[in-house]
Amino acid sequence: MNLILFGAPGVGKGTQSALLVEKLDMRHISTGDLFRNAIKNETELGKKAKEFMDAGNLVPDEVTIGLVEEVLKNLNGQSFILDGFPRTTAQADALDGLLEKIGAPLDRVISFQVPESELVSRLTGRRVCKGCGAVYHIASKPPQQDGVCDVCGKAEVVQRKDDQEDVIKVRLENYENSTRPVKEFYQNKGQFTEIDGTGSADEVFERVQKVLG
Ligand code: AMP
Repeated sequence: MNLILFGAPGVGKGTQSALLVEKLDMRHISTGDLFRNAIKNETELGKKAKEFMDAGNLVPDEVTIGLVEEVLKNLNGQSFILDGFPRTTAQADALDGLLEKIGAPLDRVISFQVPESELVSRLTGRRVCKGCGAVYHIASKPPQQDGVCDVCGKAEVVQRKDDQEDVIKVRLENYENSTRPVKEFYQNKGQFTEIDGTGSADEVFERVQKVLG
């Protein structure tokens, strides 16, 4: 089963991907995570992406599509969850071609719906582990020891640069202008299901499982 989890920044795509991967043998492909790793490792890709990400803007299509092509080419038939890709209709078009090339049809696009005020509070309160990437929230899921990751026990838990309020505003604007049209792209293909993304991660996961049967 090959899926796209779709929605604005902060709707819970990463959280739901992690829950799916725990249950099913699927590869989680998050373009945001791939870019963050590239920045951490100071690769050429990281250098290309950093300036755009820090400002809350989308990394150019040709860079992003090239990255996803590399990952998809090396899947060897494993099912996947795309999280944060496609974010433009050009990316969605390119993805169609890439999936045809590797013979991996898309089964479903699940889109999460969360009111904007909640997205802002989820994003401004989000904290992530610098080492293993575990995700926390200052109000709803703080780490047990202030600033220290519960999962790996060592690394610092910090706020992403692009989770600061001024950058969040830009990211949400970019979602409205560039990413929302992707919804129509998949709605027209009939592979699209929208679900309520509010409530606890487990509640949302139940809705996801219902969609997937
Ligand atoms: P995310 O972790 O999905 O919120 O992504 C963080 C940032 O990475 C975004 O704000 C963009 O700057 C960049 N990014 C991630 N995925 C894409 C994409 N599909 N197209 C362009 N930029 C992306």
